[in-house]
Amino acid sequence: MAESVTRKGHLFVFSGPSGTGKGTVLAELLSRDPALWFSVSVTTRPARAGEVEGRDYHFVSQDEYDRLAGNDGLLEGARVFGCSYGTPRAPIDAHVSDGVDCILDIDVQGALQVKGRMPEAVLIFLEPPSIEELRRRLQERGTESAEEIERRLAGAADEMSHASVYNHILVNVQIDETVAAIQEIIAAYHSKE
Ligand code: 5GP
Repeated sequence: MAESVTRKGHLFVFSGPSGTGKGTVLAELLSRDPALWFSVSVTTRPARAGEVEGRDYHFVSQDEYDRLAGNDGLLEGARVFGCSYGTPRAPIDAHVSDGVDCILDIDVQGALQVKGRMPEAVLIFLEPPSIEELRRRLQERGTESAEEIERRLAGAADEMSHASVYNHILVNVQIDETVAAIQEIIAAYHSKE
């Protein structure tokens, strides 16, 4: 009897400087496309107010993180703003082989590692309209100190200098349009099958 061949899921990697609106875009995208699975990262960063364990991140100690990384449990991992962040490998492997599309919200260092290991991954970069607009959004968000905002702005300029390695670069002017553009990108990969 012929076995049915399940198509593999696609891996979409979504990056962009903090404050670009990435979180809002992702939340809207996931609500419009419930078939898309969001990869919950592990991090040693303390939870912010309103963040939920297992939904936003798995909040772990540095020891737990190091153990996971040492056991090859991470698809990629990086230090971002002084904390460790990583993508648990097992759930990605399971979802991709079950034909489920996955989306990762990770930084540029991590995206490059994923591309090295899974060249078929689709990298999408979200840019703010300008660094000045990013500064305004970070100040408005009010979750970081002035010093942390400057650090994130410097990080943003560095991340944006790597945008050319991404398959798609979007400028986040209007959330609705950005989400629609990502949906089009996802649909285009499906229509290639
Ligand atoms: P935040 O602390 O604001 O949640 O995230 C800071 C940065 O870390 C963001 O650019 C986010 O995309 C990135 N990040 C979150 N999870 C991961 C991960 O698992 N791996 C990597 N490399 N970066 C991550």
